[in-house]
Formats: sequence, C-alpha cells, structure tokens
Amino acid sequence: MRLSEEALDYILSFVSGFQPEDTGKTGFRVGYTARREDFGNYDLVIVPSGFFESEHYGEKASVPVSLLPRIGDLPFLYGSSRVERVGETLVLHADFVASAFFWISRYEELCQTALRDSHGRFLARWSVLQANGLLERPVVDEYGKFIRACLRETGRKVAEPEARIRKLWLTHDVDAPFYCQSLRSLARESLKGGGPVRAWSLYRRKPVSDPYYTFDYFFEQDAAARKGCKFPVEVLYFFKAGGHSRFDNPVYNLNDKKIRDLMEAVGKEARIGLHGSYSSGRTGDAGKEKRRLEKAAGRFLSGKPVSLFRQHFLRSCEPESFRPLPEAGITDDFTMGYADRAGFRLGTCRPVRWIDPATGKLSGLTLHPLTVMDNTLFQPTYMGLDFEQAKACCVRLFREICRHGGEACLLWHNTNVTTGPYPRPEHPWVRDLYTALLAYLMEGQEDREPGNEV
Ligand SMILES: [Zn+2]
Repeated sequence: MRLSEEALDYILSFVSGFQPEDTGKTGFRVGYTARREDFGNYDLVIVPSGFFESEHYGEKASVPVSLLPRIGDLPFLYGSSRVERVGETLVLHADFVASAFFWISRYEELCQTALRDSHGRFLARWSVLQANGLLERPVVDEYGKFIRACLRETGRKVAEPEARIRKLWLTHDVDAPFYCQSLRSLARESLKGGGPVRAWSLYRRKPVSDPYYTFDYFFEQDAAARKGCKFPVEVLYFFKAGGHSRFDNPVYNLNDKKIRDLMEAVGKEARIGLHGSYSSGRTGDAGKEKRRLEKAAGRFLSGKPVSLFRQHFLRSCEPESFRPLPEAGITDDFTMGYADRAGFRLGTCRPVRWIDPATGKLSGLTLHPLTVMDNTLFQPTYMGLDFEQAKACCVRLFREICRHGGEACLLWHNTNVTTGPYPRPEHPWVRDLYTALLAYLMEGQEDREPGNEV
C-alpha cells in the first residue's frame, strides 16, 4: 500500500503533536526516510520499518500479537527502540508513523474482519490497546511528547502545547425520545408493560411530561457547563432519520409535531447532527438519511447543512462505513469510542482526519474521539461499574486529555437519566454522574494532579 504524500505529511505533523493548521510553526523539520544521505535535511528523522510495503499489509499477520516494544514506558508497534544521532539530526528507529497510522486509521479493524460482536462491532477486548493495558493512554499523543523532548535535548527550542482541555463536546443520541407517545408504544405498554390502565395514563400525558423527556435536564446542565467551563463547550443532539433494522426501533417520524417541537427546543440550545441508522454503515444510506433530516429540521439548522454524524450502536469499523460520509457532506464523526470500554480507541484524544487504511488517502472526514458513553460504564456486559468507579474512570481520562491538550466528548442518553417512579430507572446514579462530571469540569480540577484534592 502506498501512503499518499498528503497523508504522510499529515501524520508527521499530527504525530509531532501539532494540528495541521500549526504546520510550519513547529519550528522543526521531521522526515520519514531510510536514506541516510537525506537525514541532514531534517531535525528529526523517523526511519520507516517497512510496514506500508509489507506483503502482509492489510492482513491479520501484520497486527502485533505479543507485548509491544517500548522506549522506556512508551509503547510502539513497528521498528526498534534504537535512537541515534547522525550529524545534527536525531534519528528514531521506532516507526511512530506506522504506529500512529495503525490507531488513527483503525487499521487493526480492517485486518480482522472476523472479530465482530453480534452487532458487527470490533470491541475493545480484541484491541492491541487493551491487550497492552493502553486504553486509557493516548499513546499517539505521547509520541508527540517524546519527539518534542528528544528535540529539546538536542538544543532545539520546541514548545509544549498548553495543558488544558481544548474543547468539551456534550452529546446526546436521540434513540428513543418518548416512552409512551405513539399507538405502537401504547400497545407495547398495555401488553408487556404496566398494563392498559397505566399505558393509557402515560399515553395521555403531554410529550414534555413523558418519562423519557429528560431533555430539560440536559438543557439546564449543558447550559450551565457552557457558562461555567473555562474551555469551549459545544452541545450536539444526534437524530435518527430512517432505518429498517429492528435495532432502529423505535422509528420516529421527523415530521411528527412532537419531534418537531423537540427539534425546535434543541435547535435553540445545541446543534443537530445525524444519528446514522443501524445499517447505514453497510448500506451507504447516510447521504439519504442526511437529506431527510435536513428537510425535516431545516429551520432548526440555522441555514446550515447537517455535517455532524454518529453511527447508531457505534457500529462503524470498516473503511466502507467511513467512506460515504465525506461524499455525503459529513465533515465530523463522533463514533470513535469502544462500546465495551471507555478510553482512547483512536490512540489519541485530539480530533484527527481519517486516513483510509485500504487506499492510504487522507479523507475530508474528521474523527472526534468519543471519550465515554453512559451505557459503557454501567452495563454489566461492558464495564459494569458503580458510581464511584465510573467517576474515577472518567476523571482519569479527563486528566489525560488535559495533559495532551485534547478534546473530551461525553455521550449521555435521555433514556438513562429518567427519574421514575415509572418506569423505574435501572441505574439512577447515571444522572447523578453526569451532574457530577460537569461540576468537576466546571471546577477546573482536571489539571490538578491526583492526590492534591481536598
Ligand atoms: Zn443510538
């Protein structure tokens, strides 16, 4: 596989720790070459390990199975830990380009299509990150720290990015906006739920009094976070706009007055994105769904097209799921977290452009790492944590994000923050946790070292 020149330039800039818009201001030149006669053109050279040209490229055989090599505590996937000085140039034989590419492009998922759960998802439990205890470490960002430290040692003046959370995304997937507001849910509740009397009383309620209508709680919390956090906070709601799988249920009609009222309320507080249907990653229907959402939500979009996306069930893994998105005018994806574990699926906490691992081309799609989804924390088949454990896990991740100047992204569902009494919330603390995490971020504690807390 030949990595395009544009993709290589992008990775070199990204792995050095700078966003593309900073390129040229880094003050140092990084090269990716094995030609010793060219070393003098650069301040730092990463020597290619042969990963991209390997005959096993794209095959399972190219995914490391044993423990990873390290320089000190810094793990990488390809190359060796040798560091040498050639003239004025620092030469690293650890292939940080291939290693970063492996994670940010989701290469390992392309190579192991047999590893999928019942929803067709690649889970953390099969990942190289989890096998090496690295899920809570943004290793690609650590490469940048290491590269910059190396350069400083040779006397170059290289600044560190500011240690702070650059941005917080508060996101909500509108899977089921209402508990019992349709004839279908009335029938379900009568037959399988609390019986016909209870079903009828729920059905007759105003939509804003429906048990799943917890949006006012989100509006209030998210507005407080926007006001109280010292970094930018953006709020996103992802609406579904189609789907024929039983996992797309409940299907709601975007032109229904209840949904339009909800979109209007959301439009005042937040941005609306597309929650791609269960099968949209396979069928390439994202474009069709996006047009449907734009048509229905038009006046709540402030005249802008829908450009934000998250796949229902976090199903995206293969290049085939990502490829149609930029073609459909989607610029930003928020799917990239593991369903079964919180952590850094992309090996980074910074937004990163997707590189197609099958073609080596840089795409127009930016992937925003999903830090944590509510279900991941509490579901027994996932992490199965309690309040304190879940909070500690999120705080650890926030600290890493702060250390590397990355973005935090939370996904909380309206159906997980209900207050009862009926239906009784399965884990009432999920609501308290959201409140507690936002309070924590507003207090700005994430940049303090553990142990210094009062
Ligand atoms: Zn969903």
